[in-house]
Amino acid sequence: MAIVGGSIAGCAAALAAARAGADEVVVYERAAGRLQDRGVGLALHNDRYAELEADGYLDAGMPWVQLAHRPWLVRTEAERAGRAVGVLPFPFRSYNWGSLWQELRSRIPEAVEYRTGAAVTEVRPAGDGASLLLADGGEERFDLVVGADGYRSVVRAAMYPDALARYGGYLAWRGTLPVEQLPDPHEAFPEQDAATVVFPGGHMIVYRIPGPGGVGTNVNWVLYATPPPAAALRFDDPSVAPSRTATDLLISFQNTLMEEHFPDYWREMVHRTPREEMFVQPMYDMAAPHFARGRLVLLGDAASIARPHTGSGAIKALQDASVLGRALRSSDDLAVALHAYDAERAPVGRAILELGRNLGRAQVQETPAWAEMDQRAVEAWWQNAGGGTGFGGHALGSRPGDAEDTPTATPTATPSGFLREVIDGGVRE
Ligand SMILES: Cc1cc2nc3c(=O)[nH]c(=O)nc-3n(C[C@H](O)[C@H](O)[C@H](O)COP(=O)(O)OP(=O)(O)OC[C@H]3O[C@@H](n4cnc5c(N)ncnc54)[C@H](O)[C@@H]3O)c2cc1C
Repeated sequence: MAIVGGSIAGCAAALAAARAGADEVVVYERAAGRLQDRGVGLALHNDRYAELEADGYLDAGMPWVQLAHRPWLVRTEAERAGRAVGVLPFPFRSYNWGSLWQELRSRIPEAVEYRTGAAVTEVRPAGDGASLLLADGGEERFDLVVGADGYRSVVRAAMYPDALARYGGYLAWRGTLPVEQLPDPHEAFPEQDAATVVFPGGHMIVYRIPGPGGVGTNVNWVLYATPPPAAALRFDDPSVAPSRTATDLLISFQNTLMEEHFPDYWREMVHRTPREEMFVQPMYDMAAPHFARGRLVLLGDAASIARPHTGSGAIKALQDASVLGRALRSSDDLAVALHAYDAERAPVGRAILELGRNLGRAQVQETPAWAEMDQRAVEAWWQNAGGGTGFGGHALGSRPGDAEDTPTATPTATPSGFLREVIDGGVRE
């Protein structure tokens, strides 16, 4: 079996394949350098983590930070870090992307061959298998090819040439800095917060993550907004790989947003972020019509991409691998196993894609009058945007809408516990 791509989905697929008893597994990873040096932060929902821990894909040895609350902050004259118009639960564990990848990579058994600097240029389905054409001129044939090669997947191109990632119309500006560089880290920014600064036309979410290699703590921030037309960025052209460079024009636009809308504390935090630790990431979405066709299979971002507001990109990739592994173990007939995988996972991919679009509309493209909202209005707005189901990922083994796919991370109409305290004015001012 060949796995194209050796990031989160590729490493998890290699683990799944080895556990399913695949004889020969080769991972082709285009990058020649160290992947672990390139990522920033991501967050995994507590319940989804627990399922994947039970399934052997994650464990407590992977350094993480526990998060709990998500205050939605607007600028005011009086409060340096802003005023929370509402607070939603945020039961997520945050990770340093590099450490998570490295831990997954280290779990792949020796018998799996993981090749770096090995780019696949084309996939050609052929009978009961497929051939990989490699950038070094080689060609290799396998009985099964797994596409874990991200949003511009060559495996998907061989299955569904028209299923291209579509630009959603806005960007994420991202950055990290060591927690020690924050202006008074603890008072304005409690450790378990995923602070969300909101403004007309966007928001910025900020939370702590483990430092590189699990040493120390970093702060990870992601600011979402629509870039100015003058940026003339061709993010809508699927044939061109988008640049991640935060150009002078984009930084200047980010600074204008911060001057106009940001509480001092958060503006200062962004200004303290080293320029080399900042980059931009365009928002894309796409879901392949099916996740399996013939002897080709897709998982992770190659299969479907959801905007990061869903908090589920890495979870979906890991779940895809877990379900593929279960399907391969449950039938000796490859066609039956792949059909079962597709039937379970393609609906999840479509549901998360839709959720990402809805949350993008609500939080970036059609933002509400934030400053006029209170706790109840924030809860109602969140439910209306679809945040009540699938935020942080759907339950492993469920299909969207199933009884087991219970909503999580969502306040109830009659709040209790923490939310009650917030409404009663006890938690944050
Ligand atoms: C270096 C890196 C850093 C990231 N950092 C973050 C982060 O900080 N926060 C976050 O939320 N998400 C991050 N992501 C994205 C996140 O990993 C994914 O959205 C999600 O986990 C799904 O992962 P994936 O494995 O499906 O896709 P991806 O992570 O995009 O991985 C695709 C992999 O396939 C390889 N590849 C692509 N085409 C070919 C080809 N033709 N031949 C061979 N190999 C190929 C790529 O080099 C890449 O390693 C990062 C991805 C990468 C690659």
